[in-house]
Amino acid sequence: MDDLIKQAAEDLAAASKVTALTGAGISIESGIPHFRGKGGLWERFDPMEIAHIDALMRDPARVWTILIKEMKEIVDSANPNDGHKGLAKLEEMGKLETVITQNIDGLHQAAGNTDVIEFHGTFAWQRCMDCSQKYETRNVDISEIPPRCSCGGILRPDAVFFGEMIPQDALWRSRQIASDCDLMLVVGTSAVVQPAALMPVVAKESGAKVVEINPERTPLTDEISDYLIMGGASDIMNRIVAELEKIS
Ligand SMILES: [Zn+2]
Repeated sequence: MDDLIKQAAEDLAAASKVTALTGAGISIESGIPHFRGKGGLWERFDPMEIAHIDALMRDPARVWTILIKEMKEIVDSANPNDGHKGLAKLEEMGKLETVITQNIDGLHQAAGNTDVIEFHGTFAWQRCMDCSQKYETRNVDISEIPPRCSCGGILRPDAVFFGEMIPQDALWRSRQIASDCDLMLVVGTSAVVQPAALMPVVAKESGAKVVEINPERTPLTDEISDYLIMGGASDIMNRIVAELEKIS
C-alpha cells in the first residue's frame, strides 16, 4: 500500500497533463448519500417516478416536497472533505487541470478546483423553468413550495433528471480531455455508468496511466487501471499529496 502511494506520487510528478474522474464515493465522507446501490436514495424512491423529467414537469411541487427539499438540506450543509481538498491541492500545485465528475453536489468547486466538468449538471444551482435565471441553491427560500423566480417561473435544480440528455458540451470536452491526458485519477467511482465509464477507456487507449482510488475492486481494476489504491478518498488523497510534496 505504501509502495502504491509512492508510485502514485511519482507518477503524478512525472505526468504533464493530469485529469481526475470522480463519483459518489468521493462525497460520501461529506454526508452526501449515493443514489444507486445498497443504502442509496433509489432504494427509498423510484427514480422513474420522482427523478424523471416527466414527473417534474407534471407536478413540480410534488417532486420538490418528496425529493428536492431533502436534497437541498443535505447539499446546503455539506462541506468538501479531504478527498476534494486533495484534488484542489493538486491543482494548486500545478498537477491537475480538470475534474470530470458524476456528482452534482458542487463540492469540487467549493474545495477550490476551477475547471470542473459536471456530466449531470449541478444541484448547487437552481434554474428558472421559464427564463433560465439561476439562483444559488443555498439562497433559495423554500418557505413556499415550489420556490419561484422573480419572474414567477418555478425553480428546478440545474441538474440532469432521468429522461434528460447529458449536456453535449460536457461530453465532448471530457472525451477531448481524457484523450489528451497522460494520467487519469479515478476517485470514488466504479465507472460503470455511461458516459463516465468511457473516460478511463479513452484515456487508456490514448496511452495514459489510469490510477484508481476506490474502497474495493471495480470493473476497471486489472482491466483498465494500472493499479488500484484501495481505501477511502480522504485518507488516500492525503497520503498521496503528502508524498508528492516530499518529492517535488
Ligand atoms: Zn424566471
